[in-house]
Amino acid sequence: MDRQQEFVLRTVEERDIRFIRLWFTDVLGVLKSVAVAPAELEQAFGEGIGFDGSAIEGLTRVYEADMIAKPDPTTFQVLPWRGDRHGTARMFCDILTPDGEPSLADPRNVLKRALARASDKGFTFYTHPEVEFYLFEQMSGPDAPLVPVDNGGYFDHLARGSTHDFRRAAISMLESMGISVEYSHHEAGPGQNEIDLRYADALTTADNLMTFRTVVKEVALEQGVFATFMPKPLAAHPGSGMHTHVSLFEGDRNAFHEPGAQFELSKTGRQFIAGLLVHAAEVTAVTNQYVNSYKRLWGGAEAPSYVCWGHNNRSALVRVPMYKPGKGNSSRIEYRGIDSAANPYLAFAVMLAAGLKGVEEGYELPDATEDDVWELTDAERRALGITPLPQNLDAAIAVMERSELVAETLGEHVFRYVLANKRAEWDAYRAQVTPYELHRFLQFL
Ligand code: GLU
Ligand code: MG
Ligand code: MG
Repeated sequence: MDRQQEFVLRTVEERDIRFIRLWFTDVLGVLKSVAVAPAELEQAFGEGIGFDGSAIEGLTRVYEADMIAKPDPTTFQVLPWRGDRHGTARMFCDILTPDGEPSLADPRNVLKRALARASDKGFTFYTHPEVEFYLFEQMSGPDAPLVPVDNGGYFDHLARGSTHDFRRAAISMLESMGISVEYSHHEAGPGQNEIDLRYADALTTADNLMTFRTVVKEVALEQGVFATFMPKPLAAHPGSGMHTHVSLFEGDRNAFHEPGAQFELSKTGRQFIAGLLVHAAEVTAVTNQYVNSYKRLWGGAEAPSYVCWGHNNRSALVRVPMYKPGKGNSSRIEYRGIDSAANPYLAFAVMLAAGLKGVEEGYELPDATEDDVWELTDAERRALGITPLPQNLDAAIAVMERSELVAETLGEHVFRYVLANKRAEWDAYRAQVTPYELHRFLQFL
């Protein structure tokens, strides 16, 4: 037993923890949880806890249904919303096959493999997500009308606004679990909020995002409202993006920083952006994984639809945010495509792989676009070499299917599984006759 594991056992005893939830995610990024009693912990740390993986999305093929969850003691946290007496804690797990090998179907393992490849090149990958989500009044079901909790807009300070209290409660809970928050504010849509996590290595941020989603849902329930990370719940209002700021470090030096260069951005930084742009369409089925994701991408309201980069350009897919003088280590690149419903493990893995490919192959970065690309005509965009992102899930799957980069990064099993799952989603979706069609056609045709 190592020191971290001993620390967990001691804390469980001292803090009267009765349930330890073992957390992991399925291939779509849905959180899974199995609770064990304190007496099981030693075994969990030793050989792990066996479970039937066949019922978990994407986790096993039927003939290897037995899987093992092995908790990572460095992720131990008490869950504050479960109270102090007879408390509950959680740890994230790695999923192993029955012979103790890391499961190739475990999203956390996909990200770990991508991070290991970066580390072989001397890089650590940091991410800092800005998470947007909506708060609605509680409703009886998906057919009930959506009523946002307020009518606020971007950065609005609403007198006695319930969303202040919401953000305050959510942030306090996150911080009590060791997750630092940088900024939070009302977003542009009614009832829409944003909370930005402080940067950390990508595995930590991906774990933190899973916790974040749970905390936001819990606090919403506590306050009698309903929280959703659905990419585009309201057709007439902005979607919920998860712009993610990324950087590569070599030791304690930010590899994206170069004093005196344009936007203080190093050659590595430029090549990383070039990689993100070249492979953007291929990774979109992962960063924007649902049919609804494309309503956000193509619904205007500052969501990116075209592959280009810029500095202060909010229509660009990739942005180099304002450089803070004297803070070289804060140099970073903002990827604006990804939405709040992505599986963070898989999405960070493919974003890293795309950027790193640009660095390895020395991709040339095209000029920055300072125009509002939505205002340009198709011909003007073509002349500038600006291509569209996939317009729907079907198109995104078609590009991903041909992507060696995504196949290599996800590994054969997850790659095949994601494609099959997304195809099924598209097929079910396109078979629908929507209220839009009934309104538009029923009486006229
Ligand atoms: N909600 C916008 C999106 O879907 C982003 C707004 C912002 O710039 O923060 O990407
Ligand atoms: Mg925002
Ligand atoms: Mg942003």
